[in-house]
Amino acid sequence: VVKLANVHKSFGPLKVLDGVSFEVGRGEVVALIGQSGSGKSTALRCINALETIEEGAIEVCGHAIHSPALDKRALRLSVGIVFQSYNLFPHLTALQNIMLAPTCVKGIKRGQARDLAMDCLTRVGLAEKAEHYPEQLSGGQQQRVAIARSLAMQPQVMLFDEVTSALDPQLTSEVLRVMEDLARGGMTMILVTHEMGFARRVAGTVIYMRQGRVWETLAGRDLDNPRTPELRDFVGSGL
Ligand code: ATP
Ligand code: MG
Repeated sequence: VVKLANVHKSFGPLKVLDGVSFEVGRGEVVALIGQSGSGKSTALRCINALETIEEGAIEVCGHAIHSPALDKRALRLSVGIVFQSYNLFPHLTALQNIMLAPTCVKGIKRGQARDLAMDCLTRVGLAEKAEHYPEQLSGGQQQRVAIARSLAMQPQVMLFDEVTSALDPQLTSEVLRVMEDLARGGMTMILVTHEMGFARRVAGTVIYMRQGRVWETLAGRDLDNPRTPELRDFVGSGL
């Protein structure tokens, strides 16, 4: 579903992605881990065509991201992205936040969009908060609404960039549970995370990025046994 081949990306003189290649198949969950500045967020942003690349190729759900003819709108209908900051509209209820894109972008009728939004809220365990405004929700609940908002667009791939790093442990576990359910439900997911326990449990594949390269790729369950000393250090310091 997602394929990066020898992707290079710089910001001015700073090389951020230095020949990154990996593939994510349908229903796979891949975790990107690595030190701050190793290029994880940039890799996600390239996948969603929020950044342009200088060299290499990226294919997402049949779209060639590097192609000048890329239809960004069609791409973004296939790919959902959730960030650390939830960016909900404060003047809209949880339900209205979720209904917005399906009605405005996809032209789905309001009644149908409302049903869809309720479904998505139920999936993240917040059906009873439909009429609440963001300020009436905890950070974890707001993040779950943001995930529901992404789900309502029925994406084929979901990207998550440190969606729990602003949350305290209790709220983090609520959000991780929702993501785990999604993974078990067969959603294709690429997630940047510092939650090593979560990566070990949920990610089929873990990619350790270092200095803009894929330094080591391993199965999530092997995260306790890295091959490279660099990943061993990283996992050791991160737990
Ligand atoms: P973190 O764990 O801190 O989120 P990361 O692995 O996600 O780190 P990136 O956000 O991908 O790292 O950034 C990689 C490098 O690129 C960093 O050195 C960062 O300062 C730089 N960078 C990112 N975005 C830009 C930008 N728009 N302009 C210039 N430099 C940038
Ligand atoms: Mg980042």
